[in-house]
Amino acid sequence: MKIIQVVGARPNFMKVAPLHRAFSKYAGVQSLIVHTGQHSDPNMSTVFLEQLDLPKPDFYLGVSGQSYDQLIAEIQRESEKILRAEKPDLVIVVGDVNSTLAGARAASAVNIKLAHVEAGLRSFDNSMQEEYNRIAVDHISDFLFTTEMEANANLQKEGIADSKMHFAGNCMIDSLIHYLPKADLQTIREELKLQHKNYALMTMHRPSNVDTKQGLQNILSLCESVTDKVHVVFPVHPRTRNKMIEFDFWNKLHAISNITLTEPLGYLGFLSLLKQASLVLTDSGGVQEETTYLNIPCLTFRKSTERPVTISKGSNVLMNEFDMDQTLAYIMQILNGNWKKSEIPELWDGRAAERIAQIIMNTTI
Ligand code: UDP
Repeated sequence: MKIIQVVGARPNFMKVAPLHRAFSKYAGVQSLIVHTGQHSDPNMSTVFLEQLDLPKPDFYLGVSGQSYDQLIAEIQRESEKILRAEKPDLVIVVGDVNSTLAGARAASAVNIKLAHVEAGLRSFDNSMQEEYNRIAVDHISDFLFTTEMEANANLQKEGIADSKMHFAGNCMIDSLIHYLPKADLQTIREELKLQHKNYALMTMHRPSNVDTKQGLQNILSLCESVTDKVHVVFPVHPRTRNKMIEFDFWNKLHAISNITLTEPLGYLGFLSLLKQASLVLTDSGGVQEETTYLNIPCLTFRKSTERPVTISKGSNVLMNEFDMDQTLAYIMQILNGNWKKSEIPELWDGRAAERIAQIIMNTTI
């Protein structure tokens, strides 16, 4: 069997790595990787291939930095060429980034079976490009692998057949579990002179937060207020850095004291800081899940989450309006040890990719 997995952006690599490992255990399976180039900075791409033990991608499309429509169209066109030449039995796409949609459309156009890993998640926020990507990919997929049962309910409501849905667990958590021992050996905390459980780790990159002046002002005010209470470590996403420079916030961010600003971190360094943080401030999808697994208090600055299990079972709390009083009150509670503890969600056990591989291998494609 020949399988092609499409990756393109940072949150794809940690989902594809356990799948590649799981398929490699089957004799007679060829697992190939197409990298679209959507994220091309070494610290958003190459570092993840290396740290997650992924091979050099079999195909590199080099498509990045265009408008949404152009990016999707070009990745689709280039992917179709590869699919026509390689004739795989199955294409696998993960998550909700633009490369996910483009790769899925290519498979559908060339009439190749398609699996979507992390299917059925819905934020019900149509202003998010990712929400459109999720829905569009789910409706053309043949296999829909979900991370939580709420996702199955969403798919059922949208009329997707039960026979296509498989509650398999969470590949991102597979990677977390697999790489934690290596993350524990990292020395980044010492290098940044941080004390165990004595800092907040922050990530912000959603367009709703970083693409407008008001959003950036909110992030700046958050940093100013929180650093009064606790040291903040903020690895700045390239999109956020570029927008901060464009809107003239970059120097203001650097003028704040009690904050450590870094480039985006590699996976192992980031996990190491995550595990030892006293709390996390984020708008990331994956980080909400990782903090739930690690039982680290997580404040998510968004109106909604497509990952409701991180709220119902996990340590995640939505801070939708950047309300500083509410945020600081909750941070003080956390620092006093009084916060919502996690239970590990069902099937987040490090074996999701093995289950997915087994289901695919047991199905005649
Ligand atoms: N991450 C990382 N370095 C960073 C920030 C995040 O390795 O500086 C990892 C994080 O551990 C998680 C993934 O990137 O596994 C989440 O990606 P991102 O927040 O970019 O995307 P989202 O999950 O929001 O789609």
